[in-house]
Amino acid sequence: MPADSPGERRGLRAFFANALKPKKSRQVLRKDFSASTPSLRADIRTRNEFRNSCGDDVPPVPSLAPLELHRLKYQQANAEKDTQLGEHRDHTEMLHSIGVEELNNPKDPFGYDEFDKRPPGEPLMAKLPPAFWQYIAEYYLTPGDCASLAFASKDLLFRLGGPQVWQALDLPENHLYKNDFLTTQDRFFPHHLHCFPCATFHRRIKTGREKLQPTDTLNPLYDCPNATNSALPTPRHRITHGRALFITFANLVMRAHRFGPAYGIPPETLWRRWRRDGWSHNTRFHVHHGHLLMRVVSSTFADPGLPPSSQRLLLYSREDYWPYFSACAHWRDGELMNVCKCALGHIPKPRVTDGLQGVEHRAKDLMHRRVYNPNALTTLCGKCRPMRRCPECPSEYLVEIKLTEDKSDPRSLRFRHAIVVTRWADLGDGRGVSSRVSPEWAAANAEDQDEPYDSFGLLGKRSISGTFEAIMTGDTLPGQRVLSMNPTRKREGEEGTSWY
Ligand SMILES: [Zn+2]
Ligand SMILES: [Zn+2]
Ligand SMILES: [Zn+2]
Repeated sequence: MPADSPGERRGLRAFFANALKPKKSRQVLRKDFSASTPSLRADIRTRNEFRNSCGDDVPPVPSLAPLELHRLKYQQANAEKDTQLGEHRDHTEMLHSIGVEELNNPKDPFGYDEFDKRPPGEPLMAKLPPAFWQYIAEYYLTPGDCASLAFASKDLLFRLGGPQVWQALDLPENHLYKNDFLTTQDRFFPHHLHCFPCATFHRRIKTGREKLQPTDTLNPLYDCPNATNSALPTPRHRITHGRALFITFANLVMRAHRFGPAYGIPPETLWRRWRRDGWSHNTRFHVHHGHLLMRVVSSTFADPGLPPSSQRLLLYSREDYWPYFSACAHWRDGELMNVCKCALGHIPKPRVTDGLQGVEHRAKDLMHRRVYNPNALTTLCGKCRPMRRCPECPSEYLVEIKLTEDKSDPRSLRFRHAIVVTRWADLGDGRGVSSRVSPEWAAANAEDQDEPYDSFGLLGKRSISGTFEAIMTGDTLPGQRVLSMNPTRKREGEEGTSWY
């Protein structure tokens, strides 16, 4: 019985409405409706018979409604197919069609087997005088770019000065440029890895089994003469204390993404979860539009009403005075640490429950008809609630205070407030470390950059956090206010007074 039918109505008004409604009309309506279909069909049949007998040219009325007729015809035509979408259920054919359209074709991932139908460019290049090519190479290209261009064709090699453009890369002062050039050769060496300290390719010794380990673990991925040379360390991005993402791992993930699984490892193999110094951390990595994105969630329990000295003890390590959570190289400038301290100040303080003050509190609560809850959710203020983006590198931070179960004592179920600092970062395309090759990597590590990285200009309204969470959850996040982590753009570093 439908909800609005008379039998379902409740209450006094409904009772009167039902009582006043003429009963007869309802009965008549029901009787008419049930009787309508057969009489109508019979009517159509007699009318058709009559028209056929008269020889009228008016087209006969179909016995079935047009929509019903279409449904029956569709069912007959698609009896062998998927009933919903009309697709074939041939699984073998489906698998073969996927095989044909496989994008990561291991036989020819770069399309070199394709016949190039473009007209040769040599006559066009010959139009420029040889001195002009030398001028371009000398004033507009780095030695690495020059070597890459010479690699394109024999004609270009001789116009740019012959094999000496490659020999120049072996000079000690061109070490960085040699690494820039080698980043373009990744595709030819699936079984080798680019070693940045040596500026060469080494053979992989753990192909496909490369595992990201803490920084204090010796974890060789290739035999390298500089493996234990502290003067030439492998470039890395600091995640937290004792954890770092080595460029080799970023390179492995991005190679696998670009050229195929044989070249590296999937990003999921970098995911980790660990505890250290009372903080728990977990990392997630994803590849989006050719960039490696990272999310680090760090949290620790925080007591209410901490004095400034205890706040520092909670946030900074005594070893190197870096924050325990993940931070980019620019964390000392701007508001990041002030935001964390502000958030800690919002944790509700427990009330005095005994003595006169306790009685006063209870009386006030009773008067305002409220119940005091020591585990109340914490509301942050306009300063510490918005997301913060570092203006000098692609890093975003969100500071939250969350109620979390304290599992240190398994006998009691206890919830405590915890500070949770989430950092999202874009670590670039993993090809190299210089700002010429991967500006995001160079910016996140504050390495010497040809031009400063402007994250607000480059990222615009697209937030890294929004992109990352959309990949993780498959859904878009509600818009979050993103403010600059360093609105004044003052760069004082360790000399600044506000970071501690
Ligand atoms: Zn090496
Ligand atoms: Zn606040
Ligand atoms: Zn930064």
